[in-house]
Amino acid sequence: LMQLSIPLNFFGSMHREIKQGLVDLEAMFSLMREAPEVTDKPTAAKLAVDGGSVRFDNVLFHYDEERPILKGVSFEVPAGKTVAIVGPSGAGKSTISRLLFRFYDVSGGAITVDGQDIRDVQQLSLRQNIGMVPQDTVLFNDTLLYNIGYGRPSASREEIEDAARMAQISEFVKSLPNGFDTEVGERGLKLSGGEKQRVAIARTILKAPPILVLDEATSALDSHTEQEIQTALDQVSQNRTTLVIAHRLSTVIGADEIIVLEAGKIKERGRHADLLAQGGLYASMWDRQREASEAEERLRKAVEGD
Ligand code: ATP
Repeated sequence: LMQLSIPLNFFGSMHREIKQGLVDLEAMFSLMREAPEVTDKPTAAKLAVDGGSVRFDNVLFHYDEERPILKGVSFEVPAGKTVAIVGPSGAGKSTISRLLFRFYDVSGGAITVDGQDIRDVQQLSLRQNIGMVPQDTVLFNDTLLYNIGYGRPSASREEIEDAARMAQISEFVKSLPNGFDTEVGERGLKLSGGEKQRVAIARTILKAPPILVLDEATSALDSHTEQEIQTALDQVSQNRTTLVIAHRLSTVIGADEIIVLEAGKIKERGRHADLLAQGGLYASMWDRQREASEAEERLRKAVEGD
């Protein structure tokens, strides 16, 4: 009996692992079931990108029939320009980035890229042309080199290191005993939200897509990290059509247009200075955020004792 209990334990733990694997798969499939089927039309052609201008034309969208989320949203990101979407929590900002990636189809209106309705093109070609820096990046249980290089599997080590430098993460990498060969992920070194985001930016620099979607992390970052990330984002968005889903206003000051979304409708739009001058929703969000970050800074100074 003693002899038997060892293999049984072994199978017990293996069984647990398999079960966990199945649970993860199940979660994935239920997520896929939740999304209405988005498939290529038989006639779908490859997306032909020339500059990569993005247009939302009177876009309506709901996840559930009873609850409209986007209620007629129209805007354009001209080729090479940057448009930022801001607004209160739940306004529908991240939904806009999901629709551009065609995780879901619009319920009304249309989204076009260089004049092509994204429902008429092959999804793979759409996604190949859009670089997404998500709110929370998933890391593989592998080295940092692998995790960054994933953006373009054919990239050389030198190209990966260059991308890391542009993404402002090489100083951090240098501080690790094994540098780029450090194992990260669930079983390796855990990275902070800001570090993970810079890994995602480095990946995107390697992928070099004509269109970029930055879905900013909601979590508060300290002002130094925020500055580093901003520098990295400025690098990657240069001369690329960029849509920024902004949760912090400090990242949108330089945008060519800022769209203020509230409850699925565009409430205000314009450049930073114009919106401040209007004294509306944007201006009050700006004031609130500035007060919060000033308070945070005072707290930090008090803790550090300087
Ligand atoms: P935040 O700033 O808090 O991230 P947001 O403006 O990005 O908010 P969205 O994530 O676009 O907001 O969500 C808009 C609304 O859609 C929310 O009320 C949310 O509850 C709802 N929603 C988001 N995803 C789903 C989903 N998969 N199924 C049903 N409702 C959803």
